Amino acid sequence: MHLEILMSLPSPILITNAKILTMDPAAPRAEALLLKDGKIAAIGSRSDVEALATPGTRIIDAGGSTVLPGLSENHLHLFSGSAELDHLQLKGIQGFDALKMAAQAYAADMPDEVVLFGQGADYTILGGDERVTRHHLDRIIPDRPFAIFAPDHHTAWANTPALELAGLLHGKQLGPGNEVVMGEDGLASGELREMEAFGPLQSAAGFDRYRLGLATGGEPDPYPTGAEFEKDISVMRRGLDYCARHGFTSLQCMDGNLYQLELLAEIEKRDGFLPLRVRIPFHLKNFMPLSMLEKASKMAETYNSDFLSSGTVKMFYDGVLDSWTAIMVEPYANKPESTGGESLFTPDEMKAAAIEIDRRGLQIAVHAIGDGAVRAVLDGYEAARTANGPRDSRHRVEHVEVIHPADIHRFAELGAIASMQPPHPPGSMGLPLEPTVSMIGRERWPYSYAWRTLKDAGAHIPFASDWPVSPIDPLEGIEAAITRKKWQDSDPDQSFTLMEAIAAYTVEGAYAEFAEDRKGMLKQGYFADVTILDADMEATAPEEIHTIRPAAVICGGRVTFEA
Ligand SMILES: [Zn+2]
Repeated sequence: MHLEILMSLPSPILITNAKILTMDPAAPRAEALLLKDGKIAAIGSRSDVEALATPGTRIIDAGGSTVLPGLSENHLHLFSGSAELDHLQLKGIQGFDALKMAAQAYAADMPDEVVLFGQGADYTILGGDERVTRHHLDRIIPDRPFAIFAPDHHTAWANTPALELAGLLHGKQLGPGNEVVMGEDGLASGELREMEAFGPLQSAAGFDRYRLGLATGGEPDPYPTGAEFEKDISVMRRGLDYCARHGFTSLQCMDGNLYQLELLAEIEKRDGFLPLRVRIPFHLKNFMPLSMLEKASKMAETYNSDFLSSGTVKMFYDGVLDSWTAIMVEPYANKPESTGGESLFTPDEMKAAAIEIDRRGLQIAVHAIGDGAVRAVLDGYEAARTANGPRDSRHRVEHVEVIHPADIHRFAELGAIASMQPPHPPGSMGLPLEPTVSMIGRERWPYSYAWRTLKDAGAHIPFASDWPVSPIDPLEGIEAAITRKKWQDSDPDQSFTLMEAIAAYTVEGAYAEFAEDRKGMLKQGYFADVTILDADMEATAPEEIHTIRPAAVICGGRVTFEA
């Protein structure tokens, strides 16, 4: 038995001839690294570390390229993202004709799909001020259900057959923040805002299981068995593989249920290991009584290993800027009568939830995009601290796209984390400036996506893609963070240095998981989680960082990807 366990462990790996950025402030640079038994056995100069290699040690010559601590994707939606890998990808598609060509080709490729789904359609995909309606989509695909999603997954546009299939053509009464937008003809326009609006369509398409962690936080019913369960295992495997090949060794998921943990545990059982370390939250929806949090505590108790863990409660406080559903302190610049409508929780409900989650010793992570939402969530964290006493809680605010200047200092005061996404600012990574910058308005530009301002005020800032909302590639993310441009000269420079951006994908991610004593740095005794790149990052021009690829990825001493 003992021998069997030893046999299943990967052999030691020596990585040498490398420009290692350790992220360890005590020894920031090294040339070689020895991995053994899942940990870093030695790190330092070539001569010192090479001397420790024993027969049977696998040697990887990095050829002078950069080697980093295994990268951490600190806000993603693993299961739904994995399931969407075979949807029509619309990123970069502009104009009606281009959309038509792409969609018709996809439809021809997918004769059996119940609903044809497209992902990543810009709010301005038709150009100018023209918003997508069912009539546009009917002219592209008239006879099959067809719907496209905005990159943020908060808005979808459906054609008439899709609206009919989902029972939405004549409208539907929905909860706050959700809307089936109606046209002048008294029928649905095709625009579906937020999950309750497009959920029925996803259900009709059989896509529910992948969205449960977001949509209801509940479990699949009936519980998938046989071929259905195997399909979900393979979807999850494909997602893990996709993340590993992009350089990641740790994933912090931002939607969840028990089912996702069970799928991952099943993969770990079958293979004897997981290729990445994954953290899955419990999702608290506004219709759940706080007694449901008992389940969150159970999930945290059951899943607490270094490879598979829970322990975070995810919530949504508001929507997104582009559909005017993000909650602002002052009205939208281009919609002066609106500050974003109703939030998904009231400020008092937010406080009550924060107090109860915090009392259970769990971490809170709340989606808050507008400055009004960020404020209400911080108020919740403050109420929890007052009620339960201060502790090392590391509660998180997800996105923080706009912050009110009066709230900037509160992150450091409350020990809260600002979880931010370099691909999200308009103008970054090919995103159009409009309509978002006009919605925010010039007065708020200095406080928008304000990484530098928040970091200088003492906030911890882990970076992420929010995949599948944005492309998952961390090298594109690092490039976006260091090449971030101002929208007007008077705005503060929000760009990060290369080292700060790397830290946001490594040490800051580990900190957000309470794991900075064992990962996020390359240091003796830490996990053997390593990302080897195919170029020297520091010698690469900032605007060329995205051309760098992972050459090999190692998690727990095991090679999980090799170019
Ligand atoms: Zn998200």
